[in-house]
Amino acid sequence: MGKKIAVIGGGAAGMMAAIQAARAGAKVELYERNDRVGKKILATGNGKCNFSNTDMSSQAYYGSAVSMYDKLFPLFNVEKTVDFFRKEGMLIKDRNGYLYPASEQAATVLDILRFALEKEKVQVYTDCKVEAIKPVKGEQLQVGKEVYDAVILACGGKAAPKTGSDGNGFKLATALGHHVTELVPALVQLRCKEDFFKGVAGVRTGAELTLFIDGQERSCVQGELQLTDYGISGIPVFQFSREAAYALMNKKKVTVSINFLPQFDKNDEKEYGQFWQERWNRQKEQNLEQFLTGVANKKVNQLIIKLSSCKPLDKVAELSRSKREKIESLYRALTVTVQATNGFDQAQVSAGGVVAKELTDTLESKLIPHLYFAGEMIDMDGICGGYNLQWAWTSGTIAGCAAAGKII
Ligand SMILES: Cc1cc2nc3c(=O)[nH]c(=O)nc-3n(C[C@H](O)[C@H](O)[C@H](O)COP(=O)(O)OP(=O)(O)OC[C@H]3O[C@@H](n4cnc5c(N)ncnc54)[C@H](O)[C@@H]3O)c2cc1C
Repeated sequence: MGKKIAVIGGGAAGMMAAIQAARAGAKVELYERNDRVGKKILATGNGKCNFSNTDMSSQAYYGSAVSMYDKLFPLFNVEKTVDFFRKEGMLIKDRNGYLYPASEQAATVLDILRFALEKEKVQVYTDCKVEAIKPVKGEQLQVGKEVYDAVILACGGKAAPKTGSDGNGFKLATALGHHVTELVPALVQLRCKEDFFKGVAGVRTGAELTLFIDGQERSCVQGELQLTDYGISGIPVFQFSREAAYALMNKKKVTVSINFLPQFDKNDEKEYGQFWQERWNRQKEQNLEQFLTGVANKKVNQLIIKLSSCKPLDKVAELSRSKREKIESLYRALTVTVQATNGFDQAQVSAGGVVAKELTDTLESKLIPHLYFAGEMIDMDGICGGYNLQWAWTSGTIAGCAAAGKII
């Protein structure tokens, strides 16, 4: 007879673990604290669910479990993930490597998983928060009044607690002797000190952003920057937000330099200088507002006029050399000071989790036999672009199969 397995948490990782364990012959029961499974999946990819990415590498991940990347990912990689969803009936859209359901509806991914749970006869208990897991004679594990041959913990991290992942899973893990690294919000907006943000709120513009920690350059990302009334957002900001969050936690100084003109080679001062020189010469009859029209977003132009202590109606011909230079440098390097992130409430993932050295290559606990982990609970988080869900599918499959005794 197959093993009896409990999966705690009905998110992406837990559902995948339950389906794979059941396919491997186990009798699976899944506990979800919400009134339905997969609430977070519905919010992913702006409701379209960017469920994976064909450009996969360990470079896309952070955390202690990255050390296991080469062993884990080949076991259930992007091709196998695509194959899984295709076989369950989902058509797939590939947008420059970013994978979505062809329906462009996150609900499709959730429905596919729900139908698979049903097909594999996984018993799903909703409105059922697990408060404790007790080892029984080193052989089995008890959840509530039920005893299981194996338990898979897939309670998620601390991000987006409204979806059910409020960090309580880490309490279950630490109660069993596991260690959890410090957790910070990641893939999150950054709040800045400067008081000019209200004036530029709503701007979306291509930019290159460089993160500095205590004055040292740490990361440089290009993409669509979003300016908000409190600071900066958008994919380039998300990509280095975890590093900024850890630095803020350690009371370090965090600044971001914004280059609004990334189309100019930043190492080619001559080209940049020539661009401005020609413009100053050609359009010298204009006022500054007219002169800057067409350089960048109008609100950005207005901000730069203000920050260079100029006025929109100032005549270009009368501008001092130092003011011109100030304007030129602000377009390339407007420095903002980061004071905080927008917190776990607004974050897409949490960085940190159960430390990798306490897990085997099948994601089983080295401390508690027959206890497995999957998903964001483990100390590994990905950059934006489908990497976090891919980790949920990969780790869920590995933990589910191993718990059921299937070698993949
Ligand atoms: C707004 C948003 C957009 C995102 N977009 C993307 C994207 O496009 N692509 C991508 O790759 N990633 C995206 N992510 C990240 C991705 O959704 C998560 O990394 C992934 O869903 C984590 O899966 P998980 O199963 O580990 O955890 P979760 O999805 O958090 O699931 C954990 C589940 O466990 C349940 N639970 C917790 N504690 C208990 C308990 N004690 N008992 C019973 N149940 C419990 C929770 O209710 C929850 O349902 C996004 C996240 C957010 C918030």
